[in-house]
Amino acid sequence: MIKAIKGFNDILPDQSAKWLHLESILADVLGRYGYEHIRLPIVEQTDLFARAIGGATDIVEKEMYSFTDKSEPPTPLALRPEGTAGAVRAVIEHNLLRGDTPKLWYIGPMFRYERPQKGRYRQFHQLGVESFGSALADADAELIAMTHLMWQELGLKDEMHLQLNSLGELDERHAYREALVTYLTDKQEQLDDDSKRRLTTNPLRILDSKEASTQAVLADAPKLADFLGAESVAHFEQVQAYLTDLGISFEINPHLVRGLDYYNKTVFEWVTDKLGSQATVCAGGRYDGLIGQLKSIGSDSSKPVKSEPAVGFAMGLERLLLLMEAVAPIADVPACDVFVVAHPDVYGAGIGYAQRLRYSRPDVRVKMASATSLKAQMKKADKSGAALTVIIAQQELDDQTISIKDMQTGEQQTVAQDWLSSKEHFSRH
Ligand code: ATP
Ligand code: MG
Repeated sequence: MIKAIKGFNDILPDQSAKWLHLESILADVLGRYGYEHIRLPIVEQTDLFARAIGGATDIVEKEMYSFTDKSEPPTPLALRPEGTAGAVRAVIEHNLLRGDTPKLWYIGPMFRYERPQKGRYRQFHQLGVESFGSALADADAELIAMTHLMWQELGLKDEMHLQLNSLGELDERHAYREALVTYLTDKQEQLDDDSKRRLTTNPLRILDSKEASTQAVLADAPKLADFLGAESVAHFEQVQAYLTDLGISFEINPHLVRGLDYYNKTVFEWVTDKLGSQATVCAGGRYDGLIGQLKSIGSDSSKPVKSEPAVGFAMGLERLLLLMEAVAPIADVPACDVFVVAHPDVYGAGIGYAQRLRYSRPDVRVKMASATSLKAQMKKADKSGAALTVIIAQQELDDQTISIKDMQTGEQQTVAQDWLSSKEHFSRH
């Protein structure tokens, strides 16, 4: 038989109820901050990701699912590995920045060809949030404050630790990059293989190497913080001051660099110690140059293209759910509250009753099984997790009553047909 592709997971009903629960909490907090929902395509031109994320990043070098469709000439396309590139494309394409500073969020699957393991999949899901048009530190702080409230609402506030760093501006980072490469080139022999390779492709990524030998070499390396200009420093200090005002604690991690090239100034990660090496649940930062960079593609390169500041983050929903399960198992959500069982001879009356109940009690989830024997239907009612089962047979029909079974206590009683229209008799907990 044909099976699902490795790293592409089915989310079955017992899990999907938890997903809906998580997504509704996240959407609620986003709404409380005035952020608007945007729905974006899953496929974009490969070039969009290559240009935005950077050609020397792991994502573009190794992890993208790309292909061509049947168009002529063939255009390389890719399943999106992340959401920011597409969101920025949409904002530029639809001129959303004209006279406005959009605050947007999206949720959905992302695709990366990685080695599947706990908390790391080939199709995974992110909530992404992008705040456009403000260069000021309050925009960075607002995003962090919003995630902080999300952790609170999800019962995770004690599990999440905030790490911050500033990458400064491009020229500052370039100067630092040169100094780092000079320092590390002399000590190449002590670096792990991955870091040796990165020395020419993406040297800043060496900073977050997990190898002890490499970390030892880095102890005396030049510090990025020493290369930041006054404006970058002031911006970073302002972000920290706002967070302190908001009572949000953080740790400065000078080696936090992120695996995407578009970031500048603030970068941050929310990490947990409960998920092993898949410790980062949410990550983001500022990307003031990306809009200009993408706008300039295909335009006359002699004219400088104006960028617009932006800051955003993405959180991995699988990791968030794993963490929620690790902290406190999420209760199974039964699919219904009331199960209606009707004898096959009077099944039509059963359907009619269930339908009237759904109209009169929109708050109650009413489920039925097909018109097999009463016993078979009762078995399904037992399994359903319903709090009450309504039983309708010839006797009930003749007396214009219904029988009600409390599924917890097993007690059964016969009551008037409209018994359940009163919330006093039954309400969802
Ligand atoms: P990591 O270092 O764990 O590979 P990343 O730096 O590649 O993460 P981002 O691109 O910043 O991650 O994505 C933001 C978040 O999306 C991550 O913090 C994580 O929670 C989640 N994420 C990223 N890749 C995966 C994956 N393959 N499977 C599940 N979740 C993922
Ligand atoms: Mg990764």
